[in-house]
Amino acid sequence: MTQAPLPFLDLKAQQARIAVDLRRRIDAVLAHCQFVLGPEVAELETALAAYCGAAHCVSVSSGTDALQIALMAEQIGRGDAVFLPAFTYTATAEVPLVLGATPVFVDVDPATFQIDPAALRTRIAEVRAAGKLTPRAVIGVDLFGQPADWPAIAQIAAEEGLFTLDDCAQSFGATLHGRKLGAAADATATSFFPSKPFGAYGDGGALFTESADRAALYRSLRTHGEGTTRYEVLRTGMNGRLDTLQAAVLLSKLTVFPEELDARARIAAAYDARLGNAVTIPARVPDSESAWAIYAILVPDSAARTRLQDNLRAQGIPTAIYYPRPLHLQPAYAGAHDGAALPISEDLAGRILALPIHPDLTDADVDRVCTAVLASV
Ligand SMILES: *Cc1c(COP(=O)(O)O)cnc(C)c1O
Repeated sequence: MTQAPLPFLDLKAQQARIAVDLRRRIDAVLAHCQFVLGPEVAELETALAAYCGAAHCVSVSSGTDALQIALMAEQIGRGDAVFLPAFTYTATAEVPLVLGATPVFVDVDPATFQIDPAALRTRIAEVRAAGKLTPRAVIGVDLFGQPADWPAIAQIAAEEGLFTLDDCAQSFGATLHGRKLGAAADATATSFFPSKPFGAYGDGGALFTESADRAALYRSLRTHGEGTTRYEVLRTGMNGRLDTLQAAVLLSKLTVFPEELDARARIAAAYDARLGNAVTIPARVPDSESAWAIYAILVPDSAARTRLQDNLRAQGIPTAIYYPRPLHLQPAYAGAHDGAALPISEDLAGRILALPIHPDLTDADVDRVCTAVLASV
């Protein structure tokens, strides 16, 4: 008997768990009709700042817009270098380019996949020596749910006078040294894209900062650079607000988010225990808790990955490749790259594979995935 395919992510099961509260929240918005900057938006911002221990939260229209607003607030643009990992989602590199700045790609740690602080130092020195660009910012990405090495990044940024931006799109809810991410950098950007661990029912994002001045700038920039009255325009901004219905959905999801993070961690531990002798399981960032957006294994080479993926697909088990190409090799970004070698990012792209991980996977589902992986490697 062939079993039904497993979903890579099960948003229907999650919806069933929160159905009553979700309906109540959505009905409240439909009753008051304040669809933009309604009361749920401020309620969510207060709740999320408290949840992650940040002084300020400013919700915005997407994770990408959160990154863009953060760089706009620092007036980063033409002639500026923004350091970021080569092994990440496209949005991290897109934002500096949209603003006229230059992304400088940095290689990652081969075990944790996070931006490599030693490589960051080298890249900053190379850019200074070339003398064409001004180093201005580093975007550290908390990849796959695990935190980047923020103490090391912050130390380098302090020495070099760089703005630190945490791209926490995949890792809201993760902890580093006992503290949730949200205050590890000068600004932290997250995403509420539906497939992220804390996802809405459409696009959304948020910025966190300890600086009241930055938070005020972010609020102005998300509404066309407005001043104290709606028709005073102080700076060039954008339409970058989170809509009220998404805030209502997120308030409902926040009630179950901690237990969902626990479920993801249990599934990751179960995968580790069953698969650790057969494939390279994800190394843990020391003294951290992952949000487990993605559970990625490594196999010996891309032929082995294709075989494994095909075998799993035949048994109804979906997998995904994050990321098949490092950003410096993307057609859109290759022209911005200075040609530095980024061998770890290139190697990972060829042999990484993500297994399903979401809070509604049952023990039997996890067993089915493991059995299929073990039979295929
Ligand atoms: C998803 C993601 C983004 C972009 O978030 P959106 O809400 O889709 O705009 C940025 N960076 C990383 C690392 C992401 O995974």
